[in-house]
Amino acid sequence: MIYFDNAASTAVHPEVVKEMIPYFDIQYGNPSSIHQFGRKAKSAIQKARKQVAALIGAEPDEILFTSGGTESNNTILYGIPKSQGPKFVLNHIITSSIEHEAILEPCRDLEKNGVKVTYLSVDEHGIINPNDITNSINPQTVIVSVMFANNEVGTIQPIKEISKICNKYQIPLHTDAVQAVGKVPINVEELGVDALSISSHKINGPKGVGALFIKKGLTIAPEILGGGQENGMRSGTENVASIVGFGKACEIAKERLNENISHFQTLYSSMLSKIVKEIPHVKLNGNTEKRIFNNIHLTFLGVNGEDLIIKLDEHGIAASTGSACSVHTQKASHVLKAMGFNHEQITGSLRISFGYMNTLDEVDQTVEVLKKIVAELRSVSPYKTKYNF
Ligand SMILES: *Cc1c(COP(=O)(O)O)cnc(C)c1O
Repeated sequence: MIYFDNAASTAVHPEVVKEMIPYFDIQYGNPSSIHQFGRKAKSAIQKARKQVAALIGAEPDEILFTSGGTESNNTILYGIPKSQGPKFVLNHIITSSIEHEAILEPCRDLEKNGVKVTYLSVDEHGIINPNDITNSINPQTVIVSVMFANNEVGTIQPIKEISKICNKYQIPLHTDAVQAVGKVPINVEELGVDALSISSHKINGPKGVGALFIKKGLTIAPEILGGGQENGMRSGTENVASIVGFGKACEIAKERLNENISHFQTLYSSMLSKIVKEIPHVKLNGNTEKRIFNNIHLTFLGVNGEDLIIKLDEHGIAASTGSACSVHTQKASHVLKAMGFNHEQITGSLRISFGYMNTLDEVDQTVEVLKKIVAELRSVSPYKTKYNF
């Protein structure tokens, strides 16, 4: 089996599993309890908070643990308008048209309640024009949220340029960095962002845990009320074992960042050059430089991407057409649409996403299989005559 769907989720690192286990069967105390069991659990959370903060250059008390990327995004998008009190319905939000559904759906929901949302367009590589932000800002704008790296095509946005604009107008900037963390160096201070979302299961940590970086001084309304955990921002007994695992995953991601980046670049160049050499009528999508290199997004003209996934799966290779989350809705990718792709280009798309464990040998095997199944599918394609397959 070859797993090339690391943008959807990743294997939990063995060292992470090892760190987590004692928090199920030995250190099971409630972090709010004052006895030894409680204190141990509490200090484990504090250690994890430091590990997460260190990965992105934040202070530990700027880290809010959540249930993952989706919750982090929801927390900031609702938390900012809600902190304005009843006048929140007058608020305006700026985001992009290629965000993950975990940004777009909350925005659509806020719109139903009267909030105005601007969805910025992107160029053919999936990059927004920072000038569009300047032009969209109005006195009601309460937050700008632009993703760091796109989960489908891997393109990176000019976050630093965007943050300069936001800082100038004193509007908080949030970035969904779920796909970028561990793939590029990230320092919240250098970037000048006010909030940033991370998910554990995209960086070899357990599922169902993540974090929202909230810069000191930024006020947001709490999300879940109750016993006052997470500094009153998210009540409920903490998911100690998962938080511990997430912390360890962040520590490993930081230690091995450069090593992983160069590994991804090696796999990326190798796969790309082989595909281009072996398979005709292939288009590489997204920006070729401003990107995360664990992602390759391609269009095989005249082929249905879903057929390709199924055939790859029959050969023991796991890949994706794009966002795992859009599978439920069966809608054509909003990202590729925003990039101006036509129906044929959208249909023929394939996303390969690498993890630290993938090898050059797996790349070779996959290209061989791709070559074979693309030819098979094209031999019965309705586009057969168009391309002279
Ligand atoms: C996976 C993903 C999310 C959602 O994270 P979960 O932890 O699965 O909720 C949000 N944004 C992006 C860009 C993602 O890739």
